[in-house]
Amino acid sequence: MFDAIVIDKSDDKQTVSLTQAGADQLPEGDVTVDVAWSTLNYKDALAITGSAPVVRKFPMVPGIDFAGIVTDSQHPDYTPGDKVILNGWGVGETHWGGLAKQARVKGDWLVPLPDGISMRQAMEIGTAGYTAMLCVQALEANGVTPDSGPIAVTGAAGGVGSVATVLLANRGYKVAAVTGRASEADYLKGLGASEIIDREELSGKVRPLNKERFAGGVDVAGSTVLANLLSMMQYGGTVAACGLAAGMDLPSSVAPFILRGVTLAGVDSVMCPAKKRRAAWDALAKELDLSKLGGLAVEVPLSEVIATAPKFLDGQIRGRVVVPVA
Ligand code: NDP
Repeated sequence: MFDAIVIDKSDDKQTVSLTQAGADQLPEGDVTVDVAWSTLNYKDALAITGSAPVVRKFPMVPGIDFAGIVTDSQHPDYTPGDKVILNGWGVGETHWGGLAKQARVKGDWLVPLPDGISMRQAMEIGTAGYTAMLCVQALEANGVTPDSGPIAVTGAAGGVGSVATVLLANRGYKVAAVTGRASEADYLKGLGASEIIDREELSGKVRPLNKERFAGGVDVAGSTVLANLLSMMQYGGTVAACGLAAGMDLPSSVAPFILRGVTLAGVDSVMCPAKKRRAAWDALAKELDLSKLGGLAVEVPLSEVIATAPKFLDGQIRGRVVVPVA
C-alpha cells in the first residue's frame, strides 16, 4: 500500500482524499516509478476542486508531473535506479498521476532527468516551466529575437509566467510582465522583468488594432487578455498562447493577422512529441538560472495539497508549487 491523493465520483458528486492505494491498483504501463517529487499546477487545481472536467476516469490520482526513480521496467530505455521525469500525456487526467508515492506509466512518456538538475529542481520547473520553454522556442521559431522589441508575459506571477520571465530575460529579451497583482512587482523585477503592466490594461474593450507595443507575447490567459495582446502586437510579431486563466474564448478579430502579419502560435505540452520535449528539457537544464528558480518555488506536503488547490483558482499562488512525495 502507498499514500495517494485519490479523486472519486459517485452520483455526480466528486470526492477527494489523501488515502492508501494498492500496487495492484496501479494502471497499465511498462515502467514503475517511486515518485520523489511532484507539483501542483493550475490544471491539478481544476482536477482536485472539480471546477473543470479535467479528470476523465474515476478513481483518479491527480498530478500532471512527477520526478522519481525507476523500480521496475520492461522498457528498453530504462532500468531500475534511473531518475526520470514525466509531464503530461494525460497523466492525472486519464491515467494515474504524480500525487502518490508510486506511479506506473508507459516508458515512452518518460524523459531521463537531464544532467545538472536534481529531481526537486525538475519539479520546480515542472509542466509550467517546460511549457514556458516551449513558448519561448515558438517565439524564436517565428523569428522573434531580443532585438525585435519587448515581450509581454501574461499571468507573470504564476507558474508558466514566472519561468517564462526568467527564461526570456536570460536570453536578453526585455520582458513586460502583465500581472493582476501589483504587490508582486518586486518579485517580477527580481525574475528579470523590465516593465510591470497592470492586467487591467489588457482587460478592457477589445479594439481590432491598438498602438504597436510588443514584438512577442507569452499568454496564459486567453479571452479578452489575449485578444487585447494581439491588438497590441508590432508588425510581424508572434504570440505563443498556452492557457485559459481568463477564459476559453477569444473575442478578437482578424485585423492583427491580416493587417500586421501577426502569428498566433498554439503551445501544447501534454501531447508534445518526445523529440521536442527532450529539446525543451535540455535547454531548460542548460540555461535556467537555478538560483532564481529556487526562489520561485514553494513546498507543499502531500497532506496539504487538497487545501492548497483552491488558492490557484483565486490567483493567490506565486510561482511554482512543489510537492515532496517520497
Ligand atoms: P498559475 O495559477 O500558476 O498562474 C496563472 C496566472 O494567471 C495567475 O497567477 C495570474 O497571474 C493569472 N491570472 C489569474 N486569473 C486571471 C484572469 N482572470 N485573467 C488574466 N490572468 C489571470 O497557473 P499556471 O502558470 O500553471 O498555468 C497558467 C495557464 O496555462 C493555465 O490556464 C493552465 O491551464 C495553462 N497551461 C497550459 C499548458 C499547455 O500545455 N497548453 C501547460 C501548462 C499550463 P497574475 O497574478 O500575475 O496576474
